[in-house]
Amino acid sequence: MFSKILIANRGEIACRVIKTARRLGIKTVAVYSDADRGARHVAMADEAVHIGPSAPRESYLVADKIIEAAKRTGAQAVHPGYGFLSENAGFAEACAKSGLVFIGPPPAAIRAMGSKSEAKKIMEKAKVPLVPGYHGDDQSPDLLAKEAARIGFPVLIKASAGGGGKGMRVVEAAEKFADALAGAKREAKAAFADDHVLVEKYLTRPRHIEIQVFADSSDCLYLFERDCSIQRRHQKVIEEAPAPNMEPARRKAMGEAAVAAAKAIGYQGAGTVEFIADQDGTFFFMEMNTRLQVEHPVTEAITGQDLVEWQLVVASGGKMPLKQDELRIDGHAVEVRLYAEDPARNFLPSTGTLVHLKLPEEGAHVRVDTGVRQGDTVTPFYDPMIAKVIVHDRDRTSALRRMAALMGETEVVGVTTNAGLLKALCSHPAFVGGEVDTGFIERHRATLFAAMAPADDRAFAIATLARLVEWQDRSPTAGDPHSPWNEQNGFRLLDEGHDEVRWKDGERDVTVIAHRLRSGGLRLELPGGAQEARVQRADDGRLAIGLGSDTFVATVVRRVAIDGGIDYTLFADGRSRRLRLVDPLDLSMYEAAGAAEATVRAPLPGKIIDLKIKAGDTVSKGQPLLVLEAMKMEHTLAAPADGTIKSVRYAVGEQVAEGAELVEFEAS
Ligand code: ADP
Ligand code: ADP
Ligand code: MG
Repeated sequence: MFSKILIANRGEIACRVIKTARRLGIKTVAVYSDADRGARHVAMADEAVHIGPSAPRESYLVADKIIEAAKRTGAQAVHPGYGFLSENAGFAEACAKSGLVFIGPPPAAIRAMGSKSEAKKIMEKAKVPLVPGYHGDDQSPDLLAKEAARIGFPVLIKASAGGGGKGMRVVEAAEKFADALAGAKREAKAAFADDHVLVEKYLTRPRHIEIQVFADSSDCLYLFERDCSIQRRHQKVIEEAPAPNMEPARRKAMGEAAVAAAKAIGYQGAGTVEFIADQDGTFFFMEMNTRLQVEHPVTEAITGQDLVEWQLVVASGGKMPLKQDELRIDGHAVEVRLYAEDPARNFLPSTGTLVHLKLPEEGAHVRVDTGVRQGDTVTPFYDPMIAKVIVHDRDRTSALRRMAALMGETEVVGVTTNAGLLKALCSHPAFVGGEVDTGFIERHRATLFAAMAPADDRAFAIATLARLVEWQDRSPTAGDPHSPWNEQNGFRLLDEGHDEVRWKDGERDVTVIAHRLRSGGLRLELPGGAQEARVQRADDGRLAIGLGSDTFVATVVRRVAIDGGIDYTLFADGRSRRLRLVDPLDLSMYEAAGAAEATVRAPLPGKIIDLKIKAGDTVSKGQPLLVLEAMKMEHTLAAPADGTIKSVRYAVGEQVAEGAELVEFEAS
């Protein structure tokens, strides 16, 4: 076994690898970029080496720098994690050349599966079923269009070098093919420096079921399946093992097909064979990921194995600890990916500092893999995942129930997250009932998003009470004539009066009037009617609230947003809300915020890659204005209202900063 390894990655996966290495008594070396100087993986490792600027292509993707760091620190092996250099055969070769063990499959196996097109050719020969499609070398647009027509719409265009859903386009009809092809090629070129694509039949209501395979120098086996059908933008959000309603015979057939695929390329180490399955159970090979997968913890949970330990054992020349017939499935495991992203804005990544972060606590049923701590920043340079939360329980229903509760207790302030959506998913009757396919989120949009609907009276009450307590905190003595508070444990009457607090919930403007009562409590005039209330700050900083006949505890975090506005984020009853305070003393700010809607700003730093309008054009609300490439993905920005374009501030190809005014327009 190795005595020291370098982890050529960052974030949660670097931390996760370090954890196992430490348990096995292996020393670890982390690498980090400028942005990651104070990152958790750096703090966790025994040593850390700075490898360059924040942009991955100047740090985490530079093979030479990483190999240099490994040599210098005396590491014997390199664990690539996932993403970055994990599926780069050249890097695996370069490691070997420098006398370092690459903890992954042989370079030839990586290469064989590196192109989705080439992989399909190999699988075809190994008689593994494929999705009908075209994966040839001829890339002329006419031929691809002809092939698409032959396959029959809808079709899916995929970047052969693809990963992470980049360079992928669904095409519903022939006349939309040319545009989609251009878009997919552009995105593929930007993300992978390779614009080769394939075209496949786009299955409707399919399931994504993948098989974890593992091989050493003499044996190859499968550690059952994971169902990763709950996706947005063709990317996984929830994964589970085993797959719901999986029959043992089908499990065996898929497992054996996956093992055949791995054997066909002389595989060693951890790998995943991804299949897409019809509702009737027919499955087709999609791609093979020649690395550890993000969602490997659910497999670890149900098998009781540590796959990183297996990787280390096999890479150092050892044998896998178990045989196929010694593997068992124990209970059910579910993983959710907690992302810094805004489900309401088409899952646009959200960047910012995690000013408040409360993740679920680990325990017998709960595992949390994360690369961040409170105070860390989610930057636009890397994947915006905050944490993976994994639950293991006796059955699926119990696991989902537990997960829904955990998501309700998760508190993040500073970036927008998908925690509310994850909770809604895990408690959705259809999902709990076993309805699982890749269209789930889109199909159940209305009910899922209802959980994130406009704030209710309770939310306005909590925010208002927090605001009042803040006033009290600021003037602990009775100096402030407007303050009714000069007692720690509640309210005492100075005079009967009232305060007005104004909130903005998205577009909605709500004023709450708080009357101080002679009894010592408050009466709040809320949108839905008046309610009696009391509030007290608990020792832990949370608010103990009485509202009507209810009593409950809420956490409220106040924060100055990027645009200078003041946001209150409330956590109560397993839900979170964010409300913007409208300060009556600073109406100008409020007016300015209204006026700012007449400009279109860059939601993330990026590059303008397409302009669909010019100065003088009339546009209608929702009309696409331009395409911004940020975090290797294309984001279409639309007109916020009907109006006329007054000016366009940037040209195609220009780099823009977060918050930059891209287009100025006059609402009509
Ligand atoms: P998984 O099936 O393990 O979830 P993904 O395709 O989602 O795999 O990729 C895992 C991570 O690696 C994601 O953060 C994704 O953005 C990143 N990734 C995948 N492929 C590449 C690639 N070729 N280059 C850079 N990052 C990649
Ligand atoms: P990536 O490299 O981004 O992981 P995949 O080829 O694995 O790309 O596909 C990602 C997702 O896209 C799948 O999990 C599935 O939801 C969807 N998908 C891929 N191929 C098809 C298809 N032929 N029909 C329908 N959906 C598909
Ligand atoms: Mg995939």
